Amino acid sequence: MDPVDTLLFVLVATPAHSGLGMALPYRAPRGTGTAAPPLSSGTLIRVPLGKRETLGVVVPRPEHVELPATDRIRTASAVLEGLAPLSAHWLALVQFAAGYYQRAAGEIALAALPPPLRELDGIQLDRRLKKFIKIKEFPDNPSQYSAIHKVAKPLHTAEQQAVLAQITAQTGPFLLFGATGSGKTEVYLQTVQDLLTADPRAQALVMVPEINLTPQLEARFRARFEPILGAQAVVAMHSAMTPPQRLQSWLAAHQGSARIVLGTRLAVFASMPHLRLIIVDEEHDPSYKQTEGARYSARDLAVWRGRNESARVILGSATPSLESWQHALTGRYTRLEMTHRPGTELIGVRPQLLPLVRTVDMTRQPARTIIAPPLLAAIRERAERSEQSLLLLNRRGYAPVLACGACEWKSECPHCSAYRVFHKIDRSLRCHHCGHTEPVPRACPGCGNVDLQTVGRGTEWLEEHLTELLGGLRIARMDADSTRRQGELERGLAQVHAGEVDVLVGTQMIAKGHDFRHVTLVAAINPDGGLFSSDFRAPERLFSLLLQAAGRAGRSADHVAQAEVWIQTQHPQHPLFAALKKHDFPGFAALQLTDRQQAGLPPFSFQALLRADARTQEAAQQFLQAAAQAGSALAESERVSLYPAVPLGVQRVANIERAQMLIESASRPALQRFMAAWQPDLLHLRQSAEHKAVVRWLLDVDPLLI
Ligand code: ADP
Ligand code: ZN
Ligand code: ZN
Repeated sequence: MDPVDTLLFVLVATPAHSGLGMALPYRAPRGTGTAAPPLSSGTLIRVPLGKRETLGVVVPRPEHVELPATDRIRTASAVLEGLAPLSAHWLALVQFAAGYYQRAAGEIALAALPPPLRELDGIQLDRRLKKFIKIKEFPDNPSQYSAIHKVAKPLHTAEQQAVLAQITAQTGPFLLFGATGSGKTEVYLQTVQDLLTADPRAQALVMVPEINLTPQLEARFRARFEPILGAQAVVAMHSAMTPPQRLQSWLAAHQGSARIVLGTRLAVFASMPHLRLIIVDEEHDPSYKQTEGARYSARDLAVWRGRNESARVILGSATPSLESWQHALTGRYTRLEMTHRPGTELIGVRPQLLPLVRTVDMTRQPARTIIAPPLLAAIRERAERSEQSLLLLNRRGYAPVLACGACEWKSECPHCSAYRVFHKIDRSLRCHHCGHTEPVPRACPGCGNVDLQTVGRGTEWLEEHLTELLGGLRIARMDADSTRRQGELERGLAQVHAGEVDVLVGTQMIAKGHDFRHVTLVAAINPDGGLFSSDFRAPERLFSLLLQAAGRAGRSADHVAQAEVWIQTQHPQHPLFAALKKHDFPGFAALQLTDRQQAGLPPFSFQALLRADARTQEAAQQFLQAAAQAGSALAESERVSLYPAVPLGVQRVANIERAQMLIESASRPALQRFMAAWQPDLLHLRQSAEHKAVVRWLLDVDPLLI
């Protein structure tokens, strides 16, 4: 019999919901006999699991352990030499995320490590590590840090100075509410600089919502810090990097040689032993929510991590999430505000010299107008002045549906309850849900009619249509289709920056973050869908998108006075647009929060979704009903409401039927206790013969899309 204190407890990646949520016991690897010091928590170790060998993380012995029979306890293979153990803080983050998002800690821990660590065999990994591990810990050489003071930077505006002073004086978390172009990034740079100057080991984590936004930010951080800290001091961390690149960045952060980590949501789990500052830029962005596997919010985890590790946290946005805004109103977050663009404080044409927002009443335009004549004229005018226009349409492809005029046929996806989108460029019908793609049929598959018609309009159509309407102007498109191949996005952006494009058509992709200097007109072609949606967050997303888009107009000081945002709408009187015209986020937020409070919606309540995917809709719903029944028997259910099971908006994807059930509570802890107590029931139900048509189930805590 092994005494329990000679055993190691190891987190490994177990399949979600296998019931193996806990750390597994192993004997210490051979050669580390009883005389050797015990392995510390956080040690990376290779262990046998089933027929494979896998990577695991040593954790402290759990309080309650049920040991399997002695002969079933296996011996760990080998410790990953040369790597310092992960910190107790890091392990705490993983444990918290696992508990909060109802997943196995091993799954979260292993997903947070770079793929080569997990996947390479011992020899391959040794070779890689030898190559990278040469990157030394940052040398303790104070003379280098004094050089930080000499970095070139702009003279800070009064607002920037006030904000920086508050960040220094207080502990946060901070919500930096700053108009687009008000110089938030400059505040981030300076805060990082202050930190690195004060503490020669300190590390900063800077997060952005999308991979596309990292190159721009990286360039600014590198320009600022590389000359003094060297090329290794700034590393990027996102999923589009190659596995060796990710390993290198991860090691640099883990060893402390990377002082600044710039990354997307997965970077919230970066191992940073000297983490002192976390910045979450565009904190409202839905991309911070992971939508597969463990559905964590990187923004929310960042706040938790910051508190747990005494690192300052700054959330920045021109349109904060209503959750964060509410925290700022109640004083839980310290609100910092910047309303002016640098260089415009003293010019008094419009109060803050933000772009003029105008609505175009589409009910007064000739029938079937897609782009109102005055808007076309305004676009032409810009082009004549060598200025650029951005046209936003939130639907890619040529037309959302292809239909037969003679019979009922429409381009439905055979595998999903959705239409396939017509892409004219390669004459294909593509399902945006499952990816199913086919050439456009020559004739209607229903009746043989050759005259198939498009219904509705996408970016591809708009681009084509504009070419007709604006003969002579240079028109380009940027969306998920046009930027699919490596380098296409960069090429497209470079063209816009170089002034080789007069009109850029695109999806929300073009509204975010890019620093377009010559854009003076932004137009939303058909934004009304966001006004009346069944999703209570749709107006919040629409307002944010339009205000962000407005921030693209007039970025350079010479242009700011003539910058305009045009909104084509059937509802020009809508309060959302009224607030937008005044660039009044606080006003908009107040309206929304009042509605939400009356309806008992977040941030005034807390939600989770239980989703079931099954072969039939009936089976999916039956699972949810059985789950609800089990749940209502729990003591914790008293403060929790369970709503009826319903099909998802897109009910069937890739031949799998999907249903979900909303769980709501006025108390976050009550909801958490309920889900924890409920998990065993869910595991049990899933395994019962009655529910074998269920393919998977999952819990989404704090879901963004209901
Ligand atoms: P945000 O992140 O809020 O959108 P940025 O930090 O990107 O704003 O700043 C917008 C533009 O203003 C950038 O080109 C930046 O270089 C410039 N800028 C920022 N702060 C100053 C300043 N104090 N003086 C002059 N220009 C500034
Ligand atoms: Zn037909
Ligand atoms: Zn499909």
